[in-house]
Amino acid sequence: MKERILPAFKRLIEICGDDPSREGMEETPFRALKAFLEYTKGYGTDPADHLATTFPAQNQDLVLIRDIEFFSLCEHHLAPFYGKCHVAYIPKQRITGLSKLARVVEGYARRFQVQERMTEQIADAVMDRLDAQGAICVIEARHMCMAMRGVAKPDAVTTTSAIRGIYHDDSDLRMETMNLIKG
Ligand SMILES: [Zn+2]
Repeated sequence: MKERILPAFKRLIEICGDDPSREGMEETPFRALKAFLEYTKGYGTDPADHLATTFPAQNQDLVLIRDIEFFSLCEHHLAPFYGKCHVAYIPKQRITGLSKLARVVEGYARRFQVQERMTEQIADAVMDRLDAQGAICVIEARHMCMAMRGVAKPDAVTTTSAIRGIYHDDSDLRMETMNLIKG
């Protein structure tokens, strides 16, 4: 694969107008490839598998992790988008380790993504794997494809939410959780 990709990065540098063989850029195709493989290391595993280890829930109270930082690449431009992810759920019988939720976010972020789908995938993983009563995922992100190109709005923040289970019906619970997410 390396043999096929390295010329592609070289060609990209040329198309942009630079010389890939000049000093300082000779190793760039290799470094860029390594970097891209790191950006996308969420492929090849199922991020939901991080939720395989569970513990008995002592009660059915809200669990919320706020401000899980992530970096991803938009699938339309391969440009970074990054921000914070908030994950909440109401357990039924099982809970998971808190760091596992962060690993789920990381697993879905490190792929070519659209923010909307990533939000849904995280909520679905929590809902399905923990058999939760309800789950909410909220993502707030800045998209470099909106900042460095196109409409060039660097301060625009995109918020997406996915709501599952009892959160659909219980508007008080939903509001309480959303208020906690807003801090
Ligand atoms: Zn984009």
